[in-house]
Amino acid sequence: MNTKNQHLSYWETQSFLSYDVIIIGAGISGLSTAISLAEKSPSFSILVLEKSLFPSGASTKNAGFACFGSLSELLADIDLMGSENCLQLVKQRWNGLQKLRSRFTDNQLGYEALGGYELVKFSQPNYLARMDEVNALLRPVFIDSVFKDVSIQLMEKGFNTDVFESLIFNPFEGQIDTGKTIDSLWQMASKLGVKILTGANVHSVREGQVIVNFQGKMTHFEASMVVLTTNAFTKQLVPAIELEPGRGQVLITHPIENLKCKGTFHVDEGYFYFRNVGNRLLLGGGRNLDIKGEQTTAFGINPKIEEHLRQMLKNDLLPGVDFEIERQWSGIMAFGNEKKPILEWSDSRTLLAVRLGGMGMAIGSELGELASDLVLDKLEKN
Ligand SMILES: Cc1cc2nc3c(=O)[nH]c(=O)nc-3n(C[C@H](O)[C@H](O)[C@H](O)COP(=O)(O)OP(=O)(O)OC[C@H]3O[C@@H](n4cnc5c(N)ncnc54)[C@H](O)[C@@H]3O)c2cc1C
Repeated sequence: MNTKNQHLSYWETQSFLSYDVIIIGAGISGLSTAISLAEKSPSFSILVLEKSLFPSGASTKNAGFACFGSLSELLADIDLMGSENCLQLVKQRWNGLQKLRSRFTDNQLGYEALGGYELVKFSQPNYLARMDEVNALLRPVFIDSVFKDVSIQLMEKGFNTDVFESLIFNPFEGQIDTGKTIDSLWQMASKLGVKILTGANVHSVREGQVIVNFQGKMTHFEASMVVLTTNAFTKQLVPAIELEPGRGQVLITHPIENLKCKGTFHVDEGYFYFRNVGNRLLLGGGRNLDIKGEQTTAFGINPKIEEHLRQMLKNDLLPGVDFEIERQWSGIMAFGNEKKPILEWSDSRTLLAVRLGGMGMAIGSELGELASDLVLDKLEKN
């Protein structure tokens, strides 16, 4: 007698255990992969397994920048990986954003086209000197210049002009409501017939066999193909994978009367980021203050970073303004030696679509599209 799943009834084993594709993780990558697959193969049975009550990785904890890199970040990327690789990465992020926006109305994503900015300190290099180089590199994608010098607006936006020397504007950047976005992806996947089970903590995956630990009971699922979109948590299932978790910390103020800055803002090569959420200010980042300490999959607040964020709000971003912090939280990202996501097979039936870095809300829909193509291609060849 087969000893697997002996705690289930005959009926349950017939209806709930076997699928064409199982996707693990219901963040933006998992839900986008499910949608792309269901769009291309409507007759497929697709199951998404999510360990939390609702998606609780980075996709619901992030800052909601619909972005593809600030000037200083792209310059650092050009110097690290070369112009062509940097351009390819920007294209992937931009394609991902376009794909996401093509699936939903702005209202369904909470999308606002307020533009993005980079604040440059007196103590930092003169990034503006290389602005034309980056604009020329990106012109084939955006047609127009992406970055413009708007330092003249520093004062009117209320920033400390003893700290910041220049302000660079990017009209192609926007902002999304990250909760609405994941909820919309979830609803779309469900409408397309994708089944989503939450509280399903995947214990192991091998050659189409997926074992889920639910309240201490092991249940065996099987699928022709499995896609892992567990991002920062992937090492628990594939220990040899080349990625490190990176915790990100965020806080948000109560509403501020006459908040002067609207849009998304990057500081220190993207290590700090802030934006308006209505008339609240959200500020996050600071991983660079304790890189080792933040290489963790444990959610939590690092007091040193928290203090830095609070001081930054008080002294640099909202000087002379009365404000209170309403709440703070953390989320876990995944980084590696390269900035490109990992999209590769870990065995003949398991595809990894992970390591989305700090701009995964942008790249996630594109990664889902590419993952769905690889799965369909492999199924066709089998
Ligand atoms: C503080 C912060 C700010 C950020 N700001 C931005 C931003 O402004 N713009 C931007 O583009 N990106 C931003 N990012 C990055 C972005 O959020 C991520 O790159 C993206 O959400 C990754 O999506 P994902 O679906 O790959 O992973 P996740 O959203 O982490 O989803 C993985 C899912 O897998 C589930 N899971 C894990 N292990 C298992 C298991 N064993 N069994 C079942 N389920 C499992 C998890 O519960 C989780 O729901 C930010 C991230 C953080 C943390």
